[in-house]
Amino acid sequence: MRILITAGPTREFIDPVRFISNRSTGKMGYAIAEAAIAAGHEVILVSGPVSLEPPAGLFKFVSIVSALDLLEAVQRELPDTEALVMTAAVADFRPKQQAHQKLHKKATDGRDAMPTCLELTPNPDILKTIRPLKENRIFVGFAAETNDVISSATDKLVQKGLDLLVANDVTKPGAGFGTDTNLVTLLEPNQAPVSLPLQSKRSIGDEIVRFLERKHPIV
Ligand code: C5P
Repeated sequence: MRILITAGPTREFIDPVRFISNRSTGKMGYAIAEAAIAAGHEVILVSGPVSLEPPAGLFKFVSIVSALDLLEAVQRELPDTEALVMTAAVADFRPKQQAHQKLHKKATDGRDAMPTCLELTPNPDILKTIRPLKENRIFVGFAAETNDVISSATDKLVQKGLDLLVANDVTKPGAGFGTDTNLVTLLEPNQAPVSLPLQSKRSIGDEIVRFLERKHPIV
């Protein structure tokens, strides 16, 4: 199977030296990529800026920075794949204006000042945007939550039209950003949520790959 995996944060630049981003380190997405390669699949990894080395044996590595770059990369790579795992932590908003020169604390001749109030504009929801391209591909999403984990995750499973939503409470010890372990609940449409015990991100990756293998239609 050829699997498209997105990982890491996006960066939304305010000016050439400042950006809005989030705490994603890419570890979960990279662990799924390693698990899929180990199981013999072809993996296209689309990654935001992280400090991890791309896993050995990737079919293709695509480096992106912003949410709009990520959307473009997913739209380009998706047609040749059978499954998409959206682990990337997409910034929901980007600055409405992106300055081409560094903004200064005070405006001087020919230089703009950093505004004290930043105007934001929403980024597209990538999963919703590419929904019409799904066909019989398997779509897996992630949800990092801090409260009402199951109900928020169930909403996302339905709204984003996913086959699997992997939810985690990022406030729990050993779960979430930067850790090598994670504590996740798997949600499939019309099925009871399945909570997995605390385990390495790599073994959660193995679990997700087994899900994809079960769902992949035999051609
Ligand atoms: O809505 P929320 O960001 O919590 O949803 C998480 C899931 O949706 C993840 O799989 C993430 O990669 C994806 N997502 C997306 N486009 C966005 C935001 C999130 O595809 N703009």
